[in-house]
Amino acid sequence: MKININKKKLTNKEPTKDITSDDLINKLPLSTSRKKRLVKISNNIIFGGSAIPVIAGPNGVESRDLMFKVAQQLVKNKINIIRGHAYKPLTFPYRSKTYNESKFVGMDIMDEIKNSFRLKVVTEVTEIRFLERITKTADILQIGSRNMQNLELLREVSKTKKPIILKRHFGSSLRDFLGAAEHILVEGNFNLILCERGVSIPHTHRSTSRFALDIQAIPALKEISSFPVISDPSHASFWAPWVPPLTYASIAAGCDGIILEMHPNPKKSLVDPLQPLNFKEFKKVINKSRNLGKIFKRKII
Ligand code: PEP
Ligand code: MN
Repeated sequence: MKININKKKLTNKEPTKDITSDDLINKLPLSTSRKKRLVKISNNIIFGGSAIPVIAGPNGVESRDLMFKVAQQLVKNKINIIRGHAYKPLTFPYRSKTYNESKFVGMDIMDEIKNSFRLKVVTEVTEIRFLERITKTADILQIGSRNMQNLELLREVSKTKKPIILKRHFGSSLRDFLGAAEHILVEGNFNLILCERGVSIPHTHRSTSRFALDIQAIPALKEISSFPVISDPSHASFWAPWVPPLTYASIAAGCDGIILEMHPNPKKSLVDPLQPLNFKEFKKVINKSRNLGKIFKRKII
């Protein structure tokens, strides 16, 4: 995409972590333009409007049985978007004996889900070489926080023209986050959804919680950028009991979507078993969110 930037002004004379008025013009022109951006997934699923779409599912596409059980629950609760990763980066290289990325098999399961339920699919792209297969099935491509500044990946994912969820890295300023977004936008794909998923801070209030949801990032991003901003309380807190209150806080803070990890038997989840909601908890958080949404004139879908 051709944009008019005065390159002489692109200096780093005053490096900063926060966004300056100069950045708005010269470094982040596309991500901070005030043109309101809606991301349309289908006629009734739109991010950035009055509805708040929920994206829910397990961490990984562990099995066909798991994904069918989850899909049934989503339909029961009138939720439209299922998530599950067939490709998945882990923090440490020593995978458990029982956990393997399901890769092509997982993507075929997601295809079956799409054919059996009227659900849209979100899944993560970890490497360019997997993009072709993932793009065939996924309705929304997720770029995980660990890949937020994998610029080559951002560019290639952008070129697919598919809607993209860009997760904020847990150590990144909003300036760096929008800088990464700018790499997607400059390739001409404006179907961009920004996701806050928790940041590293000295105290996370519980030994198993690695991150803290940066609630303030939601209004801050909405003030400066016009792309939809969604919240992922599951990956922020790593702790299922905190997911409902953080979901309500995100809705109150003005988020345009929610990611919730869920599993029929969280203890059996092969990755991050402390974090998914079980089906009963999921139903409860959706019902309460729907009530809360009414106050803000937002419909949880
Ligand atoms: C996920 O969505 O399952 C995930 C790993 O998220 P993040 O990249 O935010 O850690
Ligand atoms: Mn996960």
